[in-house]
Amino acid sequence: MNIDSIKNGVVIDHITAGRGMTLYRLLDLDGVDVPVAIITNAQSEKKGKKDIIKIDADIPVDLDVIGYVDPGATVNIIKDGAVSEKKKMKLPQTLKNVLKCKNPRCITMTEQELPQIFKLTDADHRTYRCIYCETKANI
Ligand SMILES: [Zn+2]
Repeated sequence: MNIDSIKNGVVIDHITAGRGMTLYRLLDLDGVDVPVAIITNAQSEKKGKKDIIKIDADIPVDLDVIGYVDPGATVNIIKDGAVSEKKKMKLPQTLKNVLKCKNPRCITMTEQELPQIFKLTDADHRTYRCIYCETKANI
């Protein structure tokens, strides 16, 4: 599968090499019933190496997740075989149901119906903290 063969879908490009699988996992792409390709260590003029994820179907992807894993990535929406939209990522202010709090005393451990919400508290260090107990999340 190459970009030209996708008629309608999503291409996540310029992923920092090594982060493609993390993104694949966090986007739940192993659970979708559509063709998905991951290319790791592709040649990139800007970065040397990059990962690429191609989704050969017009499914919604969580842009906050992509911005969290790799703010340098670009998302291309493909329609009728051409790039119809190019989205630049940035660090999201909040993440909902992406990360799980690891603090065993956090209220989300006992109150399972609560959404897992993390807030960006330090953009320079890409630090996110649980809104309930302020435990730091790591990627
Ligand atoms: Zn917590």
